[in-house]
Amino acid sequence: MSEVSNQHWHFAIVGAGLSGACLALLLARQQSQWNILLIDTQSHAAEPDHRASALSASTVDVLQTMGLWRDLATSTAAITRIDVSDRGHIGSASLEASEQALSAFGHVVENAQLATVFAQALPAFPNITRIKASAPPLLKPRQGGMGFLLEQGECQADLVVLAGGEQRPLAQQLGISYRRHDYQRVALVANLVMAEAHNGLAHERFTGDGAIALLPLPGKGDKRVSLVWTLAAERAEELQGANAEDFIHSLNHQLGSRAGAALEVDYRQCFPVKKIIAAEQVRSHLLLLGNAAHSMHPVAGQGFNLSVRDMAALTEVLSKAYCDGVQSGDLAVLQDYVKLRKDDQGRAIALSDKLPKLFGMDETLAMAARNLGLITLDLLPPLRQGFARFGAGLMARRAQLRE
Ligand SMILES: Cc1cc2nc3c(=O)[nH]c(=O)nc-3n(C[C@H](O)[C@H](O)[C@H](O)COP(=O)(O)OP(=O)(O)OC[C@H]3O[C@@H](n4cnc5c(N)ncnc54)[C@H](O)[C@@H]3O)c2cc1C
Repeated sequence: MSEVSNQHWHFAIVGAGLSGACLALLLARQQSQWNILLIDTQSHAAEPDHRASALSASTVDVLQTMGLWRDLATSTAAITRIDVSDRGHIGSASLEASEQALSAFGHVVENAQLATVFAQALPAFPNITRIKASAPPLLKPRQGGMGFLLEQGECQADLVVLAGGEQRPLAQQLGISYRRHDYQRVALVANLVMAEAHNGLAHERFTGDGAIALLPLPGKGDKRVSLVWTLAAERAEELQGANAEDFIHSLNHQLGSRAGAALEVDYRQCFPVKKIIAAEQVRSHLLLLGNAAHSMHPVAGQGFNLSVRDMAALTEVLSKAYCDGVQSGDLAVLQDYVKLRKDDQGRAIALSDKLPKLFGMDETLAMAARNLGLITLDLLPPLRQGFARFGAGLMARRAQLRE
């Protein structure tokens, strides 16, 4: 028997992406007695992640509690204002963090930087073992735990967590189905250098057949921004392959004067835009997390933030069960977690679904609705407050974590 197969694992987390690594850290610091196996299933050939994420105030709060914010803060840019506009139409809305009594709506960090901070924090926890697997484990539900077969041998954990989109096939092998919607759009991601400093301003611009988000990044005199351009697959492919000058020209044409002019672009990467929601998030000794549980349209920047709120709540629920002498894979405990997270997940998925539908249509009625929506949002403080608080993740219950 290998060192991995002869141990009792409280948790085996399959997938060491953003969600998997973050959960390992949350659990490890919550209960030092928990023995956690983090199984990294990413192949060496995987393309590096060039995205940046807008971390909501609720995510920053969790990272602060975990003691990771100190290392991250200098690599982030604060979003202090959001400008929402619609190309070619009068409606627009401008949201100020200070107006909502917030110092920032959120902070933008490059995913690679976030992954590095997580990876550097892992070795500080002797109760986390990180291993590399060349193939995903074979799951075997057993009495009293979940079995899984690795090249290191047969193992068992009280709870196996499938973390990240790459793990969906494992869930499907167990008969868990997914509800899918393909928006027939691709998110083209790149970092830009703008003519002017962003001053903490993020832009969300609807273009008739998609959306452009510009998120402030640190560095280069605050002129760097992260672009997420949602558009039809064919056009995205053309733009990905275009030379930098043509790309900048096409982009600036869509941005208009509100968002300023882009001067430089770096590596461009495309992501298909789909909503993929698991029909079940838990079974006895099994839990789906992050993109394995819910993957949504990136327009509202909800995906990772929602997962962090899931992970904080999960950690709280599991910790309480542990203190009460109940095993972590107990179905009733896992169902308590699902109940606790149902409303917040439902809201985030609905918002991410409705925004692109409303702004993706060019019919007169939809145009009127979205212009009216933006004007209303601009004029009515309670509506603005609700939108801003939801975006900042402040409408969900705050989980009780070990300080
Ligand atoms: C274009 C776009 C923009 C987005 N913007 C935001 C945003 O602003 N805010 C937000 O909250 N959410 C955002 N999301 C959603 C967010 O990216 C996902 O929710 C998040 O990636 C989920 O992480 P995951 O670990 O569950 O799953 P996955 O997405 O499957 O994994 C996360 C990433 O980690 C990488 N990875 C996997 N294993 C490893 C490993 N071992 N080492 C290093 N890297 C690894 C993968 O390649 C993958 O890119 C965005 C999504 C897209 C497509």
